[in-house]
Amino acid sequence: MVKYMIIGSHVNFTNEQLLGSTKQAIGYGATAFMFYTGAPQNTIRKNLDAHLTEEAHKLMEENGILLKNVICHAPYIINLANNKEMEKWQFSINFLKQEIDRCKELGISYIVVHPGSAVGLERNVALQNIIDALNFIIEEDAPMILLETMAGKGSECGCTLEEIKMILEGVHSKNIGVCLDTCHLNDAGYSLQDFDALLDQVDTLFGLDKIHCIHLNDSKNPMGSHKDRHENIGLGTIGFDILYNIFVHEKLKDVPKILETPYIDREYPPFKQEIEALRQGKFHPNLVEEVKEYYK
Ligand code: FE
Ligand code: FE
Ligand code: ZN
Repeated sequence: MVKYMIIGSHVNFTNEQLLGSTKQAIGYGATAFMFYTGAPQNTIRKNLDAHLTEEAHKLMEENGILLKNVICHAPYIINLANNKEMEKWQFSINFLKQEIDRCKELGISYIVVHPGSAVGLERNVALQNIIDALNFIIEEDAPMILLETMAGKGSECGCTLEEIKMILEGVHSKNIGVCLDTCHLNDAGYSLQDFDALLDQVDTLFGLDKIHCIHLNDSKNPMGSHKDRHENIGLGTIGFDILYNIFVHEKLKDVPKILETPYIDREYPPFKQEIEALRQGKFHPNLVEEVKEYYK
């Protein structure tokens, strides 16, 4: 049962585009993955090669990766919340529209977006900007935008479930959902210890059916720290047992879990070993050494 859980990590999108991402995910033993269509911190994008996309789809099918479990992440320099500089706000809106078009071309159904940061604007104004931008961007029958829950670093919006609810309610379309990030929830001040209680809260506020992606990360910092620094599975303040409980939770069994945990020594991806640990349901206290050993 646990063997077939939908789990993967973020992977690179390089010269081989989606095909390269797929190969990497398969190398980690993943059944899902997440990618940026270019560098996450900039908006330089290459044209998509339809042949590579077709090859990627074939390879996914052969390896049990369903397209619905492949997620795109919008670059984090997009800020839909601040329109003090109209040009920058317009640029964010246009760029996100282009990313959605790229997702269409790639056959991807979901794109994760950070709601944005208020930077000097009043919170309610910033939230309204996000709503206005989304109402302009969202189309029916297009890839669905998933709002990610944030840690509340700086002036980040969407760091409470109530703010996420406000945005969802302001958007006229039903073609919008939510991505829960466990590190961000912890850092924002939500306890993951009683995860059932948290899910009940989500269900009352906007419905569990809005959740289409989980970012499964441990955190380097205590609950409520508003820091947003991810840690490897089991080695942080959330801990293995709580993350495992989320991983196997019955109510989220169809939702892809994506690891965004840090590379070991900034060099070695930990994902193969973390996926193994989660599938085994067994904490690997020597994860760092295991990963280094594997890439030796
Ligand atoms: Fe994110
Ligand atoms: Fe995340
Ligand atoms: Zn983060």
